[in-house]
Amino acid sequence: MSGPTIFAKIIAGQAPADIVYEDEHCLAFRDVNPQAPVHVLLVPRKPLPQLSDATEADRALLGHLMMCAPKIAEQLGIGGRYRLVMNDGVEAGQTVFHLHLHILGGRIFQWPPG
Ligand code: AMP
Repeated sequence: MSGPTIFAKIIAGQAPADIVYEDEHCLAFRDVNPQAPVHVLLVPRKPLPQLSDATEADRALLGHLMMCAPKIAEQLGIGGRYRLVMNDGVEAGQTVFHLHLHILGGRIFQWPPG
């Protein structure tokens, strides 16, 4: 049985989160299992499961997320020194099926990613 994702519950105010940014289209909160000194998830309020589900109607929303990311990074003290990650599907490592961008910073990152 699948119900609302944990991110939908956070957006609805029904689950706790350390929210660092919000506006009418999205919010960002700290990851409970951080992979870097700063690790925030940027989530659209619209419950799109994953990037592959986005349509032309989501173009502005996706652009909005990309424009918010550097502002949030700046606010968190990692402006111009962070990594953005979006896992699209199980094989890519996605575990929560509500589209989200990871904003990671505060350490040096390697390439290729794991
Ligand atoms: P992904 O694997 O790309 O789907 O990323 C999901 C992320 O959500 C993981 O980094 C988890 O640590 C994080 N996460 C899961 N539940 C919560 C929660 N309740 N609050 C904050 N982050 C969460």
